[in-house]
Amino acid sequence: MTDKPCLSILVSGGSRGLGAAIVGRLLAAGHQVATFSRSKTESIVAWESDAALAPRFYFDTIDAQDLTAVRHYVSVVQQNFGRIDALVNNAAVASDGILALQTDHQITQMLDVNLKSTLVLARECVRCMLLVSGGMIINISSIVALRGFAGLTVYSATKAALNGMTRSLARELGDRNIRVNTIAPGYLETEMSASLTEQQQAQIIRRTPLGRLGRVDDVVPWVEFLLSPSASFMTGQIITVDGGASV
Ligand code: NAP
Repeated sequence: MTDKPCLSILVSGGSRGLGAAIVGRLLAAGHQVATFSRSKTESIVAWESDAALAPRFYFDTIDAQDLTAVRHYVSVVQQNFGRIDALVNNAAVASDGILALQTDHQITQMLDVNLKSTLVLARECVRCMLLVSGGMIINISSIVALRGFAGLTVYSATKAALNGMTRSLARELGDRNIRVNTIAPGYLETEMSASLTEQQQAQIIRRTPLGRLGRVDDVVPWVEFLLSPSASFMTGQIITVDGGASV
């Protein structure tokens, strides 16, 4: 660990993809990190079995659709770490397919995970942040909330809602020294985008000035920046990291 301040940070959905990359980077930077997901991955097992990380890594298996479990998880993190300085709302699901063919179950799951649990997590963490007169919330949205994508109507709606939530909550909490920002990535090379056909991938790449899909490492530095004192005058912002795809 360096002499940089150690933050207590809750990252939802840190078992794989972007969430795991964020957790890995924050642990490497010396922070205390709590994360949850429905299943345990090799990354989680590796962090759990690293004795050096034991005091500052906490994982539990939770389904974000279970709001009682989500509330309980936040209270355990607060108890274990003594404070929550930052929340990264990363967990999400994307069931692709045209709206006409989406089931009620798919719509409910996306609204529950991407939006409802995000709001509940934010509320519970804000209550903890108010106790220490400061904090940071970073929502992970998507460029589809700004530009749209056929087959991602419900997902886009949940991500657009996060953008609205970001602006209103930033206004609500600015005078409490709590900053709320959002990162809107373009398409990333993770399991979530694995269902894109080769044709869709080629089309996205063709429409992206920088000529490739995004990588988790393109996004993680923005999370680190927003958590740093350098971002202390930034709140309510939607930061697009998409290789120029949305211009
Ligand atoms: P991913 O690889 O599918 O990972 C999603 C994470 O969320 C996993 O840890 C997953 O773990 C967890 N999760 C999903 N449903 C959950 C539930 N019900 N309860 C608890 N945890 C749950 O996705 P990703 O690509 O890393 O995406 C991360 C974020 O970036 C998301 O907010 C996504 O919308 C956003 N984003 C992604 C892309 C992209 O192209 N991939 C583009 C723009 C924005 P379990 O499945 O084990 O629960």
